[in-house]
Amino acid sequence: MLKPEILQKFIAVVGRDRCKTSPEDLLTFGYDASIYEYVPDAVLFPKSTQEASGIMKVASAHNVFVTPRGAGSGLGGEALAKHGGIVLCFSMMHQILEINTANRYAVVEPGVVISEFQKAVEKVGLFYPPDPGSAAVATMGGSVAMNSGGMRGVKYGVTRDYLLGLEIVLPSGEVMMTGTVTAKDVTGYDLTRLICGSEGTLALVTRITVRLLPKPKTKRTLQAIYNSIDAAGDAVSRIIEEGIVPATLELMDSMIIQALEEFAHLGLPLDAAAILLIDVDGDTETVERQAALVADFCKAQGAREVRVSSSEKENELLWFARRAAFGAVARMRPTCVIEDATVPVSFLTATIKKVIEICGRNRVQVAVLAHAGDGNLHPLMLCDQRDAEEMARVDKSMDEIVEFALSVGGTLTGEHGIGINKARYLPQQLSQTSLKMMRAVKATFDPQGILNPGSFLEHCRS
Ligand SMILES: Cc1cc2nc3c(=O)[nH]c(=O)nc-3n(C[C@H](O)[C@H](O)[C@H](O)COP(=O)(O)OP(=O)(O)OC[C@H]3O[C@@H](n4cnc5c(N)ncnc54)[C@H](O)[C@@H]3O)c2cc1C
Repeated sequence: MLKPEILQKFIAVVGRDRCKTSPEDLLTFGYDASIYEYVPDAVLFPKSTQEASGIMKVASAHNVFVTPRGAGSGLGGEALAKHGGIVLCFSMMHQILEINTANRYAVVEPGVVISEFQKAVEKVGLFYPPDPGSAAVATMGGSVAMNSGGMRGVKYGVTRDYLLGLEIVLPSGEVMMTGTVTAKDVTGYDLTRLICGSEGTLALVTRITVRLLPKPKTKRTLQAIYNSIDAAGDAVSRIIEEGIVPATLELMDSMIIQALEEFAHLGLPLDAAAILLIDVDGDTETVERQAALVADFCKAQGAREVRVSSSEKENELLWFARRAAFGAVARMRPTCVIEDATVPVSFLTATIKKVIEICGRNRVQVAVLAHAGDGNLHPLMLCDQRDAEEMARVDKSMDEIVEFALSVGGTLTGEHGIGINKARYLPQQLSQTSLKMMRAVKATFDPQGILNPGSFLEHCRS
């Protein structure tokens, strides 16, 4: 519990209106998109870097824990106040400060919603590729802290690849800049990329400079329909091996197809074992040529049918459905645990089959969704959090999926981060020396350990 005199000091920084302490407000901020619940002592909403810095100065003077938060769409409990203290929510720092068309970069505050930012730059003919499935709610700050990926990773990479510089507030309250606005910069250590993916444990991100690309002139969406998941997985590996570079290459298994059809009524084939959803983008001529090439290739790789969307509207509908996949599946049981193991793409089929075998053996209902072109699987494990015996089977399935992914040279998490739920696996992937270096980095930025305590490093058993 926060002492009243300390709470008053926080109120002096942001004002009474932007400091929430009622039980119903606190409960709302006790959740994110994970299965965990940790209710904070207060929620503060800064409107400027100066206020964020003021909050950290009070926090460090009184050893109060601070957990930064964007939209709370993280899947691993990253934005929850695991040891109490305050949640510092960036939703009121939501200005797009600059879109510089001459030098193709933009500067935003952290609370800007990703899809709003994408729309704003597209209006002036530019393009911000990172596109997590949660883009309609997730914030730019949250995506920097998580190094979010998403649908377009296969061609365009992830958030890290677009960062030019940051303004950050250290746990002490000091404000610091990293990076520049130039296309090239090798001045000193790359602190921008160190902060990116640090899950809110090193500093608050209060301003973000990203590079932009010219907007692709056009795009075409294809659905390749398969009677077997093996054939769909193999087609993905072959597309990558052949050097074809689609903008997106997503895989949905039969349970996802059924759930989506029930939800969005798009006419998806209910008897299919898997669908690949593939975008090609670029100049009109290139897109037409690539769409034909991909369609022929998918047919040669066993697709029973390839549908090519005929308009921008149809593209949008298909992507609307894909974005709704988590929600559509999550309606089926009270709890949905989302896995994120990622493997070299040539192991995609083997890993999908292994996931199905593991979940079957452990009697866990699973639907498989994947950013397939990146080898990034999202098995959605459906369960009921209130049933301890069932959750133990889900945990066991997760242990086995992680073990398999690591055994083929993969990683614990491709994009969702470690958070609370994957911390126990860190020593399986990282050496003791790596963990020691990470702890040293954390201690350098945050010697008092007040920023996002209870995060991945603290939970990891080593
Ligand atoms: C339906 C659904 C689909 C998703 N699809 C994808 C996907 O395709 N790809 C993907 O990568 N992720 C995906 N995610 C996960 C999640 O949406 C992303 O990680 C997202 O970028 C988190 O943004 P947020 O604003 O919600 O951050 P939050 O959940 O609020 O916070 C995430 C972390 O960032 C820290 N943080 C937030 N803001 C700041 C800041 N300004 N300064 C410092 N630290 C900060 C928090 O402390 C926390 O550790 C999905 C989630 C859902 C629910």
